[in-house]
Amino acid sequence: MFGSMMNTPMTIGQILDHASNIHGDKHVHTLLPNGKIHRYNYTTLQRRVNQLSNATKSLGINPSDRIATFVSNTFQHLELYYAIPNIGAIIHPLNVQLSPKQLEKIVKEAENNIIFVDNIYADQFAHLQNEIGFRHAILIDNTNQKINNKDSFLKYEQFISEKDCDYSTGIQDENCAMALCYTSGTNGEPKGVLYTHRSMYLHTMAVNHADVFGLTESDVVMPLVPMYHVMAWGLPYATMLSGAELVLHGTNREQIVNLICETGVTVAAGVPTVWKKHLPEMISRKHEINTLNKIIVGGETMPISLIEVFEKELGIEVRHAWGMTEMSPTGTLCRLRKAHEKHSDEEKLKIKAMQGRPIPGVQIRLMNGTQNILPWNGISVGELQVRSPWTVSSYYNTEPSLEHFTEDGWLRTGDLATINSEGYVQIVDRMKSLIRSGGESISTVQLETCLSIHPQVIEAVVIGVPNDQWGERPIAVIVLANNTDENITEILKQHLANEFPNFWIPDRFVYVDEIPKTSVGKTDKQAIIRRILTS
Ligand code: AMP
Repeated sequence: MFGSMMNTPMTIGQILDHASNIHGDKHVHTLLPNGKIHRYNYTTLQRRVNQLSNATKSLGINPSDRIATFVSNTFQHLELYYAIPNIGAIIHPLNVQLSPKQLEKIVKEAENNIIFVDNIYADQFAHLQNEIGFRHAILIDNTNQKINNKDSFLKYEQFISEKDCDYSTGIQDENCAMALCYTSGTNGEPKGVLYTHRSMYLHTMAVNHADVFGLTESDVVMPLVPMYHVMAWGLPYATMLSGAELVLHGTNREQIVNLICETGVTVAAGVPTVWKKHLPEMISRKHEINTLNKIIVGGETMPISLIEVFEKELGIEVRHAWGMTEMSPTGTLCRLRKAHEKHSDEEKLKIKAMQGRPIPGVQIRLMNGTQNILPWNGISVGELQVRSPWTVSSYYNTEPSLEHFTEDGWLRTGDLATINSEGYVQIVDRMKSLIRSGGESISTVQLETCLSIHPQVIEAVVIGVPNDQWGERPIAVIVLANNTDENITEILKQHLANEFPNFWIPDRFVYVDEIPKTSVGKTDKQAIIRRILTS
């Protein structure tokens, strides 16, 4: 017997309706390239989204067409986040940092023939246009900067002006696709993940849970993660459903501390690299950024030392999250439990550096091979597998394979982890990065975490390189603090020896000025390996 409740579809349009009807006076703030802040409220946003929906539809869109965006974090990109799904099409934010070849491949695979382009990316786009020949390219121009071929573009403001301000979305089936994002390609070729209205809506509800991102109507939220990276972690939707204000940094990451001061940001989200970079300025302007009370951090392990500075010195709560493009992206989030109140500060910090517990709606398990489910004892290491209404069940345009999905329908994350008896996940390594030395495993993540808490280390990465005798051996690549001891290598070896067996100690310590990063700001291990192997 079916129940007798209404089956109203969960759509992206409903999020915007709610924001505009209930929180219409709340603002979107965008930092423009000239340093000024553009502002309008959610009522205006909805009006412009409707105009954009009407304009885009007039280009002759078919349901499920994939429309590309090559745009930074701006109010226009936010408008596209709503308008494209509202007309039954699929927004495909392109990662502006990918190589021309990767972009070309993705655009061809997604069959994008309409694209919205930020004028600051016009040069990169020209190459893509030569290869693809988009049917329509619409230019978003926040700088009035001179660009080549300006006449070949439709102009965004002209494009939407004078269009009808009403638009009623006809989406009845919440299982329709609404967005396409590609994985960042850190571990192999980028793969497409097609989100549905339902999956994104449910992800939005889940992350707004008090113990997840916990956004409220009084928050001012700034995603520092680019809008092409997993839909900015779903924050543009979560912020507006909660009635909080949204702050977009445009292309200007250098100004984020000013932006926090000027807009009163309370919650900001980004990868650890971003926080490391801005930490010195945040410390020196501690009293000016006192509205900021919470940061959401993920994408890679947040070093304990960084969590400590944020929480103790700046009084900013760190919410460490783990997830993947395949999970929209949120899978787990780390907060202390009530039971931890009596723990020492050191014990609490150790817990906070874990990736946390599954958020409501996400199921997790640890597997050793295909058959054995491992216990949640904080010791057994296995592949983390997940299931949820916002987890992908097959990659775009490909049949599900056993390499990525289990026979009983779980996603194989490729991450090696432990889970403790309280359900806290600790990522040990990517399956592909685990070093196999003399038949034994060495965790690069554990070595990196230990190195990074040493006071003379700013950043540490451990890679595995081929070795005739052992198969593979670790090498540590390190950015040192100023004024380090001359015998720093010996000091670091001793520091590691206190924690790990001898065969884990890296064979070489290489000191560099900077660690290369991927297109989404994560450590680029492949680039480091290439550099080490050719040096
Ligand atoms: P992406 O799809 O680009 O977001 O990458 C997903 C991968 O990033 C995961 O499978 C993990 O390997 C890694 N990752 C994400 N969050 C964390 C985290 N908090 N700690 C460690 N690794 C993480």
